Amino acid sequence: MHFENCFLSLFFDITDLNRLSKLFNYLPFKESFMGIATLVIGIISLIISFIPCVGWFVLIPAIIGLILGIVGVCMEKTKGKAIAGLVLNLLAVCVIVGMSFLMADAATGGPISRAVEKNKMDSCKNNQKMILLGILLYVEDHADCLPPADNYRELLAKDVDAKLWQCPSGGEYQYFGNGQKTMSLGASASTVLLVCPGHQENQIVGFADGHVESLPPEQVKVAIEHCEPGELPVLER
Ligand SMILES: [Zn+2]
Repeated sequence: MHFENCFLSLFFDITDLNRLSKLFNYLPFKESFMGIATLVIGIISLIISFIPCVGWFVLIPAIIGLILGIVGVCMEKTKGKAIAGLVLNLLAVCVIVGMSFLMADAATGGPISRAVEKNKMDSCKNNQKMILLGILLYVEDHADCLPPADNYRELLAKDVDAKLWQCPSGGEYQYFGNGQKTMSLGASASTVLLVCPGHQENQIVGFADGHVESLPPEQVKVAIEHCEPGELPVLER
């Protein structure tokens, strides 16, 4: 009888937490039902929220868990589980929203993906500068000749760390030298020695004089296609 009265009064004013509290007192397993429910939903939601694309499916359960957590914190005598569940569900919602934002940013070339790409391009340029320095040291010790294409990495291993050959974007550097004498290269500031194809817009190119540039792929492609056998690509300026 008391339960019915309380339920009816709640029906007319769901925002009255005092009446909701009275109703809650009539429920079985009242001690920790909300806390356990929100905690279980929170743990599951937080784990799944980290999985790209799948995380979206637990957004609504996480919001429900969040509401249960708030109700549990307001009404349960032992609030520990409800607080823990509340925090976990809140984290899950934040992870889902954050992951969605990052995916949208990557898909549309937003500010975060541009900053990440710029960081990769800077690392790529530094890698190529170190490799070109190693090549110049090799040339000095080998009668002005570039390392041959067959085993240039082994020949340069003394001065060039193996990890420098891998661009942070995932691409590997293309090396064009093949034992040529550098004195025969002419305009070495336009002579291409290294190319990294692994970037979104421009390619990073290392030149025989040791400098590095970011250039449109079409310009680099023309230089490589017009290169005679046994010669190095020369960029049209
Ligand atoms: Zn690169």
